[in-house]
Amino acid sequence: MSEWVRRSAGALEQERDRLNRLDADIGDGDHGANMARGFTAVVARLDGAAADSSSAALRTVGMTLLSTVGGAAGPLYGSLFIALAGATRAREPDAAVWADALDAAVAAVQRRGKAEPGDKTMVDALIPARDALRAAVDDGKPLAEALAASADAAEEGARATIPLLARKGRASYLGERSIGHQDPGATSTALLLRALAGSWD
Ligand code: ADP
Ligand code: MG
Ligand code: MG
Repeated sequence: MSEWVRRSAGALEQERDRLNRLDADIGDGDHGANMARGFTAVVARLDGAAADSSSAALRTVGMTLLSTVGGAAGPLYGSLFIALAGATRAREPDAAVWADALDAAVAAVQRRGKAEPGDKTMVDALIPARDALRAAVDDGKPLAEALAASADAAEEGARATIPLLARKGRASYLGERSIGHQDPGATSTALLLRALAGSWD
């Protein structure tokens, strides 16, 4: 899990300005800074701790994001990682476990944020990623390949938010003016899932 966290922190640091710009177009311009700050805190927290089970590490990620990211994304990503922790408890995270875990994570994000597909949120990256992962696992694909397919689907889902009208979060205040911009939260979700796939190469 520490490999995923490290790669995520690196990717978010590298893409911080781009995520801020995407958020400036339809929000308050802080999404890159929020996420980079959160994952810097996660890396520090995990570096200082004894090596833990995957589930315990994922729980630490979730709790740390809850307390450091802030805004709309903090509680949502916090719930996501805490759900991943719950779904991997006492299980070796193989392909089938990851498929179940992403199921649980999407459900947790939707429970908390009430966003539906097409509302122009991180859910628009998460749902295609979840479905692609499940399909790849059902096809018997090895974990690395299944996670790569999931990341591809998340990136496509993030791009597909461009023509959508935002119905949740700060971007929804813009109404029609939210159309024509890629959702920052869907974009950071795709970054995290690409980092996850990269951790299993
Ligand atoms: P804030 O809008 O409070 O500044 P961020 O900029 O960090 O928070 O995060 C904005 C992102 O949060 C959006 O791009 C969107 O993907 C996501 N988001 C906002 N509200 C919701 C929601 N109700 N459900 C799912 N995702 C949401
Ligand atoms: Mg913002
Ligand atoms: Mg904000």
